[in-house]
Amino acid sequence: MLNNALFTVDYSEMVIVKDIDFYSLCEHHLLPFFGKCHVAYIPSTKVIGLSKIPRMVDVFARRLQVQERLTNQIADTIRDKISPLGVAVVMEATHLCMAMRGVEKQNSFCVTSAMHGGFRDSARTRMEFLELIKLRSPIPGLREPTSAGLACVGDD
Ligand SMILES: [Zn+2]
Repeated sequence: MLNNALFTVDYSEMVIVKDIDFYSLCEHHLLPFFGKCHVAYIPSTKVIGLSKIPRMVDVFARRLQVQERLTNQIADTIRDKISPLGVAVVMEATHLCMAMRGVEKQNSFCVTSAMHGGFRDSARTRMEFLELIKLRSPIPGLREPTSAGLACVGDD
């Protein structure tokens, strides 16, 4: 899906696409979750056309999903396609399945993240990214990206 969107650059600056609206469906409850997605990567030799990133988010979001997997799929796809020096994806979403079960309002807002390469290894790079996207809430489990799964918090 990204084959026509790749081209080569000879510099390594962080590329960020933030505030991508997404709308998905929780596979556990068949209820919507929706919010904002923020994507950043540090190119090595290839970049993705900026307009392709929201399209990719949309393609993955249209399936039955859990937020953590959706986050990982976007990060993994970018990593696999262009082998960047680093890739970071953060998703902030409201889950109707949680809101409807009377979970406290602030808890029905979930943040998940997937960090690879420089975003995982370098606190400075990570902070630069987080500063730029200005999250509304902290990312739980950020120090251990593999434990950042929060989709459907409260699922038993
Ligand atoms: Zn759910």
